[in-house]
Amino acid sequence: MTRYWVYLGVESLFDNPTTREEVKTFKRLTKKIEGLSNNIRTQFGFYYYSYVTSDLEDAIKRAKEGISLYRTFNYKDGEEYVTVGTQPECPKCGYLGRFEDCYCSDCGTKLEPEDYISFEY
Ligand SMILES: [Zn+2]
Repeated sequence: MTRYWVYLGVESLFDNPTTREEVKTFKRLTKKIEGLSNNIRTQFGFYYYSYVTSDLEDAIKRAKEGISLYRTFNYKDGEEYVTVGTQPECPKCGYLGRFEDCYCSDCGTKLEPEDYISFEY
């Protein structure tokens, strides 16, 4: 079974929202993005979330949903990217690594690199 990761990186709407309107929009977007996944974090002004599924179609659908959600907030100057990748797998023991793992947490073997799926969005 191949597991796929959806990885969405979108620039935070406002680093320092100032007007009431900006604060409102910022809160709405944060809530919506949080609704997409329980695995979410922010870093360097970006939101990231990952979503794990064994279904490639589903992964691509989620990826497109994430990007279109971001775009509905009409923040055109913000940076965005979305990737769908396979989960890295240990060639020795079959352990499925986490998204950023380079080495198997179980036996220390170098993991098969993640493979990226290309799709239009
Ligand atoms: Zn291993």
